[in-house]
Amino acid sequence: MQALTISSHGGLDRVEFRDDLPVPELTRPGDVRIRVHAVALNRLDLFVVGGLPNVTITPPWILGADASGVIESVGANVTGLAVGDHVVINPGLSDRTCEYCREGEQPLCPRFGLLGEHFPGSLAELLVIPATNVRRIPASISLDEASAFTLATLTAWRMLVSRARVQAAENVLIWGIGGGVALAALQICKEIGARTWVVSSSNEKLERARELGADVLLNRLEVDVARTIRDQTGKRGVDVVADNVGKDTWEQSLRALGRRGRLVTCGATSGPIVETDVRRLFWNQWSILGSTMGNDDEFETVVQAYGQGRLRPVIDSVHPIAEGRAAFERLASGQQFGKVVVRIA
Ligand SMILES: [Zn+2]
Repeated sequence: MQALTISSHGGLDRVEFRDDLPVPELTRPGDVRIRVHAVALNRLDLFVVGGLPNVTITPPWILGADASGVIESVGANVTGLAVGDHVVINPGLSDRTCEYCREGEQPLCPRFGLLGEHFPGSLAELLVIPATNVRRIPASISLDEASAFTLATLTAWRMLVSRARVQAAENVLIWGIGGGVALAALQICKEIGARTWVVSSSNEKLERARELGADVLLNRLEVDVARTIRDQTGKRGVDVVADNVGKDTWEQSLRALGRRGRLVTCGATSGPIVETDVRRLFWNQWSILGSTMGNDDEFETVVQAYGQGRLRPVIDSVHPIAEGRAAFERLASGQQFGKVVVRIA
């Protein structure tokens, strides 16, 4: 079986295409086996190559979290999915028995883990995964595109809809437009009717964001983001900040945040330790919200929206699996606008 793997942590030179991996067996009655068509990369995949604390890989370790594909076989207990269905997957796996899972809040599961990080990944010809983590999509949707849908859209949905509860006409600041979560956040805000302030260091990316409906473009190399927002909102600030950068943006995020504002974070790509003036936190009655991945209901909701032609991911580039390392290099470059896809089929 073909797969994109690593056998040790390090630079992207560790990313290795192989065609000698064993086919994963479908042994559990609740699982399905998917013939994977394509896998979009996420920043998580870069972190896995570099090595993450408390994450141990067994070489050769298959990379990848997202996936689109076609159901190849189903376990005896699987209902609602059939051989030949086109599907996307939710790469977050939970035990489905703990108190959080029973409440339907799977991302809070103490045994929660992600494909490619805690479990062998999706960048392979065949993938075995619980049917609970699989949803059918219309066969009319391109499987290249569909591979880029789930992780970014699900993450952005939980952040903005479930956690920050963005409302129509609210102002939302989105850092790093061009990244998958940021672009999904932009689309979700547009659907809600919120006003979006998007940030990038690239005017080209900002122009493309404008084409997607972004309201205010902020080049962080040319303007002080927080000051510009305060100036343009009569010192009021934004209602919500979507931050996945962490250390480098935290202070600006809080300076841009208005009274009663909500800062929601799902990542810390620039570093995890940030500084917050607690006096400003309580005086302005801010909410600082964490968010990660999404639960079954949120997965269902976003996949339904996708089936209706909404929340379509932006694709930067598609790379054949044999040249998969180039896809990782493209993502690491930061030059991409939208998702970088590795095609297996
Ligand atoms: Zn659980």
